[in-house]
Amino acid sequence: MKIIVQKFGGTSVSTPERRALLTEHVLRAVGQGYKVAVVVSAMGRKGDPYATDTLLSLGQNAYPQLSAREKDLLMSCGETISAVVVAGCLQSAGLSSRAFTGAQAGVFTDSTFGAASCLHVDPRALNECLEKDIIPVVTGFQGIDSQGDITTLGRGGSDTTAALLGVALKAEMVEIYTDVDGIMTADPRITPNARVLHSISYDEVYQMADNGAGVIHPRAVDVAMRGNVPLLIRNAMSDAQGTLVTHPAGMAADITGDETVANISVLRKRTQAILKQTDPAQVQEILQLLAKARVSIDLINLFPDSAIFTVSDEDSGVMEPILANHGIRYTLLPGCAKVSAIGEKMRGIPGVMARVLTALQSRGIEVLQTADSHMTIACLVRGESADEAVRALHEAFHLDR
Ligand code: ADP
Ligand code: ASP
Ligand code: MG
Repeated sequence: MKIIVQKFGGTSVSTPERRALLTEHVLRAVGQGYKVAVVVSAMGRKGDPYATDTLLSLGQNAYPQLSAREKDLLMSCGETISAVVVAGCLQSAGLSSRAFTGAQAGVFTDSTFGAASCLHVDPRALNECLEKDIIPVVTGFQGIDSQGDITTLGRGGSDTTAALLGVALKAEMVEIYTDVDGIMTADPRITPNARVLHSISYDEVYQMADNGAGVIHPRAVDVAMRGNVPLLIRNAMSDAQGTLVTHPAGMAADITGDETVANISVLRKRTQAILKQTDPAQVQEILQLLAKARVSIDLINLFPDSAIFTVSDEDSGVMEPILANHGIRYTLLPGCAKVSAIGEKMRGIPGVMARVLTALQSRGIEVLQTADSHMTIACLVRGESADEAVRALHEAFHLDR
């Protein structure tokens, strides 16, 4: 069986007109001889009646103490409604289709409500459907744990479902349909002259996604890479060729600017923590307590008598009592943003950090902290400078050319 998974994001399933375009994408793949499995997100964005944020605010606004298990059950309803509506749409176009919840599709997870990890996928029900030329429409973002409770995979997790099913069904390709023409050199909402990257490696996209490029979930990239399934990110509302994500060997050369950097990403709502007059044993203990509290830290600089790192603004509330209990001196700077220049080709090229700092300083943007790895240079800036910093780096590396 020649199988393709097509995932449609919130905006791509939000109106009857867009669902008609979705149907055309499915029909085209069927016409090319593919068996198609569809994955859907909840319909629309914040404010739309069945969008995830709307459901979440319904529960949380009325009952702020709503427990994680119940929140997951509530959020999962958005995808369930969407799967039924999309299956109905395909049926009315003359296609055989069935809607599946995550559990019915065989997505088994651990019990970490709100950020569950998939333990395994049992693809038998979907395979049976595909063999009979029935198009399964699967709810993204959700699974089931060993207790039979519904779990969710973390915000943006429908991409992960698509990648998981792509691997389990041995699909030729996972197509991610969204509201932009592909993966771009920066978020076009910040940098209107951003360009589409037509081919890119899993590693580079993973770095982008992990550093805030919300166009695809990092876990989806990781799953697809390990399962060796190509991803194609495309616009649901156009025939643009999109971005093919594969291992480097399969990639066509994609010339971007001066080739050093492929993308500028931004991760917002970060709190910088500066711990003063500490000794290494104290810092080690604090890091262990943070790990135990599942607080993830980033941009870590340790010195003999101090430590600097960042956490999400949300986790800062969990961190502060831990710091306070240690009686150490510390300052917290919330609302920062980590702006990253990412590119596989920067490896071994001297002067990239200098170019980054020159570009930011020439626009008067204060750099609070930096870090670098083989394909990423990250700068922490104040939240209000984030967009300007993205544009400055985009221009400095000629990414619009
Ligand atoms: P979906 O609902 O289809 O999953 P998302 O909102 O999750 O869509 O992702 C698409 C959005 O990602 C785009 O509208 C765009 O603003 C944003 N985005 C952020 N970084 C990038 C990037 N580098 N390339 C393309 N889009 C990006
Ligand atoms: N509906 C979920 C969210 O908004 C999952 C997704 O769209 O990928 O996070
Ligand atoms: Mg998304």
